[in-house]
Amino acid sequence: MSTGTLNISEIFHSIQGESSFAGWPCAFIRLAGCGHGCLGCDTAYAESDAATLEIEEIIRQASAFQAPFVEVTGGEPLLQPAVYPLMERLCDLGHTVLLETGGFLSVAEVDPRVHKIIDIKAPSSGVCDKNNPENIQLALEAEPAYRKKFEFKMVLGCRSDYEWAKSLLFEHRLTDSFTIMMGVMFGKLEPQELAGWILSDRLNVRMQLQLHKYIWPPDMRGV
Ligand code: SF4
Repeated sequence: MSTGTLNISEIFHSIQGESSFAGWPCAFIRLAGCGHGCLGCDTAYAESDAATLEIEEIIRQASAFQAPFVEVTGGEPLLQPAVYPLMERLCDLGHTVLLETGGFLSVAEVDPRVHKIIDIKAPSSGVCDKNNPENIQLALEAEPAYRKKFEFKMVLGCRSDYEWAKSLLFEHRLTDSFTIMMGVMFGKLEPQELAGWILSDRLNVRMQLQLHKYIWPPDMRGV
């Protein structure tokens, strides 16, 4: 039993849309608050409309969906200290836990059993200078058994974002050891264009679409 409370924007059941787990049913716990101000943020509503819930109540609601995965997301989930005991407790209960984080805060204190999906923000986001370099370092230095618990996500808006992303991947040789999910900013870059660049450069990344935006209306909440 864990004690503590968190400000929660929503707890919902959907199809995982933006990682190597895309396509799987998943219970989502969206924590409220972020404040990083990425251009084109599609969860700005998570800045407000929060309810304060006890950890055990959050787990009860998420578990009710009986999904194979539980994802902790935001907003920026790592802003609230009680997120750490929440993730630990979910792992202890046998859930496969995913964390989706904006990449500005370090994941050093996250339970190593949690699968970390870490954004690397491209220049079009307006906040790429806030990417926390420690996360790449932590992934590179992780014990081999825990390396597969890291993956990075890059959402691109134009060709110069793509060139920027490519140089970062080469600089740290990230494609040698990690799954790199590369996608397009919805409505800003055509998937076909990105696919062409990846194929032409023989870039070893996994292309993704924001699956939930194709299944449901792109601005729909709770999916
Ligand atoms: S980190 Fe995520 S939630 Fe926060 S502003 Fe950026 S896109 Fe929105």
